[in-house]
Amino acid sequence: MIEQAPALTEVGAGLQIAPNGGRVLDALGVAPRALASRAVHLIDGSTGRNLIRMPLGEGFRLVHRADLIDALAARAREVGVAIRLGRRVAAIGVDHITFEDGALHPVKRLVGADGVRGVAREYVAPDHASRYTGQVAWRTIVPVENWPAEAQVHVGAGRHLVLYPLRDGSALNVVAVEERSDWVVEGWSTEDDPENLRAAFARFDVPIREILARVEWVNLWGLMDHGVTPQWSRGAVTLIGDAAHPTLPFLAQGANLALEDAWTLAASLDEPARWEAVRRPRVTRALRAAASNARNYHLSGVSRVVGHSALRAMNRVAPDVPLRGLRWLYDADVTGD
Ligand SMILES: Cc1cc2nc3c(=O)[nH]c(=O)nc-3n(C[C@H](O)[C@H](O)[C@H](O)COP(=O)(O)OP(=O)(O)OC[C@H]3O[C@@H](n4cnc5c(N)ncnc54)[C@H](O)[C@@H]3O)c2cc1C
Repeated sequence: MIEQAPALTEVGAGLQIAPNGGRVLDALGVAPRALASRAVHLIDGSTGRNLIRMPLGEGFRLVHRADLIDALAARAREVGVAIRLGRRVAAIGVDHITFEDGALHPVKRLVGADGVRGVAREYVAPDHASRYTGQVAWRTIVPVENWPAEAQVHVGAGRHLVLYPLRDGSALNVVAVEERSDWVVEGWSTEDDPENLRAAFARFDVPIREILARVEWVNLWGLMDHGVTPQWSRGAVTLIGDAAHPTLPFLAQGANLALEDAWTLAASLDEPARWEAVRRPRVTRALRAAASNARNYHLSGVSRVVGHSALRAMNRVAPDVPLRGLRWLYDADVTGD
């Protein structure tokens, strides 16, 4: 495995691992420290009013990214995978890769898991354009005490904020999304002033403003929509994860799909075209579902009043209905196929 970073670390942030991704971790024998998530709770951001609390079944986990990466790396080393850190691939050729220092390395097969802006995607689909979605996302972690083990989504006109606890409940993961016409560089390297985050959510309810008042650092990302990359293989190179299908974060599935990709491709390394044909419809469906969540979270005016009333009514009679519609996603077990 080749990684450009000098160490396998992640700046503080969380991941929701759903049962479909969790099954891959279980099958690999990878068990990062995790909290079991009990529900997804939709709340009106400006009033704090409960809209719907959707209970989750078994197998939804809240994980710190650093813990997941540590657990994956430890298991990989245990089974003999050589991990080469601090090596940036600068270019890909027909039968070799070139590192940044000019060194060449021959390759028979290369799995490009280098993300949305990686060289592998550039090599496999050089003309595939991306489009700014008109949304930016901030990401940070705030210390808390005894936060309930659930994901809260505080929704408002043109913005929403996701909160969930990590580790022993003493850290709160914050992802905040705002619609805006200008955009920033894609990638977490862009730091922003916490005041900008506070200003964007200044009309949200007091408890949210109190949490944001404690934010000391924040990263900002302009969300781009690349759609599913039109082809996933070229010669010896096959893309997986965000390189193949960058996923907007509104369904918390990007990493889950990447885990599924890794498991399923491992069983079909000699037949990447067949693997892609089987895999593409599921991934495309997941990306569509993520995009429609963004629209539903950001309602304003009449559609907001109607939508929120419908959610409150559903909360009284059948709060599990919305997530039942995602069983095709969560119930899939790629390790058993
Ligand atoms: C705000 C936000 C919240 C999210 N929340 C969730 C969630 O709750 N659940 C979920 O499942 N998904 C979530 N996602 C999506 C998830 O983060 C991504 O889908 C996932 O990280 C993709 O993994 P990847 O390995 O394909 O790519 P990446 O995580 O981008 O990893 C790519 C790796 O390749 C390395 N690399 C890149 N270029 C080179 C090079 N030239 N040479 C060597 N190494 C290179 C990078 O350093 C990096 O380590 C979220 C995304 C966002 C933006």
